[in-house]
Amino acid sequence: RFPSERLNLSVSSSLAPQLWKLLTTASQEAEKRGWHLYLVGGAVRDLLLANTAGNLMIKDIDLVVDGFHKSADVGAGVELAKALQQLYPTARLEIHGAFQTAALLWHKDPQLDSLWVDIATARTEFYPYPAANPEVEASSIRQDLYRRDFTINALALRLTSPRAGELLDFFGGLLDLQAKQIRVLHANSFIEDPTRIYRGVRFAVRFSFEIESQTQEFIRYAINSGVYDRTAQENSKTPALQTRLKTELKHILEAPYWKSALQLLDNLGALQCIHPTLKLDALLLRQLRLLERCLRRFDPQQSLIHWEMRLETIIAHLEPQYRVKVAKNLQLQEDGIKRLQNLAKAEAEVLESLPACQRPSQVVQFLRQYDLPMLVLIALQTQRTIRRQIWYYLTILSHINPILNGNDLKKLGYKPGVQYRQMLDDLLAATLDGNINNKAEAEEFLASSYPR
Ligand code: ATP
Repeated sequence: RFPSERLNLSVSSSLAPQLWKLLTTASQEAEKRGWHLYLVGGAVRDLLLANTAGNLMIKDIDLVVDGFHKSADVGAGVELAKALQQLYPTARLEIHGAFQTAALLWHKDPQLDSLWVDIATARTEFYPYPAANPEVEASSIRQDLYRRDFTINALALRLTSPRAGELLDFFGGLLDLQAKQIRVLHANSFIEDPTRIYRGVRFAVRFSFEIESQTQEFIRYAINSGVYDRTAQENSKTPALQTRLKTELKHILEAPYWKSALQLLDNLGALQCIHPTLKLDALLLRQLRLLERCLRRFDPQQSLIHWEMRLETIIAHLEPQYRVKVAKNLQLQEDGIKRLQNLAKAEAEVLESLPACQRPSQVVQFLRQYDLPMLVLIALQTQRTIRRQIWYYLTILSHINPILNGNDLKKLGYKPGVQYRQMLDDLLAATLDGNINNKAEAEEFLASSYPR
């Protein structure tokens, strides 16, 4: 439909010089072997969007080599990556044989920082059944681009001569970038790979683009055709799909725009991918808002993984009987799965026992069996009075320590032993309940309860 546009980008002046040097070296290595080399995907999109003469440092570079290696077992991409690694010995080389791709990784390099360069051999993928893993075979750059998700991600910039610097735009990606549109490449795209729905939403929200109307229809069609139900049921057969879905959810939930992205996913009906009953209703929105307040207040050092807490909150919004399966499908960490498994029981225990706790020491005694993420999840689920008690515990009570410590007990002449635990607990309880307020009162309290 769209001819390949000729647009000579002044890539050299846009990109950080060290990155430009790497790309030049890579293209020279490709040329030596008579191959074509292209910069593709997000890097081209970001270069066009950045539209600046600047110092653009892209962290993720995708290269595609179009060429045949003399050995049928090794893709040109792998060969090129090996050659580059010789020239850049600080890079780590990873080879993924079956897909004929290789990656070069730099970690905190003084020049290239944490750069990740994927090098693939031009290829086509076939999907033997929806949502399956792609099978790969060598083919041309156009076909490589055609298997990609959206027109704005299906642009390529030729790095090798002749016509180095030419933009290859077979599907109208440049127009869509200008019109701020997310447009899918073909009607079956979302059936083949439902994670593209999440990717489309992510790009739309991130760049403030619209999902083009026909693309929205394709999304709704894919969802209505039950692609997600199949996905969930075939989980054991399609673990790669679940992994990709989790990766997309992670990208969304750790981005500053996560709330708008969830809203758009919900509008499209795409939260069904997590579970058919999942809706971003007023209650879940409120819980997510509360969660943010909690995380800011109780976890300022970010010792918890905040995007995972958001995901757990979303899963916790489901009926208890669905939670564990969804958590396992999405490959949550073991402790997250356990938390969701125990949440209903813990919530019931708290509902029953917390109102009966009269004194602060009883509250502490009861609540300290739960860790911070569990308490947060319980608080989000329960009514206000209970939530207030949990907040009070987390903000104040859990930070109060006994006035004396083990050393003090020793100095006071108590023989070290198992009894110390009980003594310190008693001291803590008395402190919490306001029965002792200073060291002198603490010593007096001990003398009366634990004669030496
Ligand atoms: P980001 O800046 O968020 O990393 P990106 O476009 O570089 O965006 P990647 O996930 O690194 O995203 O993917 C690189 C490229 O691979 C994309 O630009 C797209 O062309 C292609 N791609 C990635 N995932 C898919 C998918 N599920 N289906 C089709 N093409 C995909």
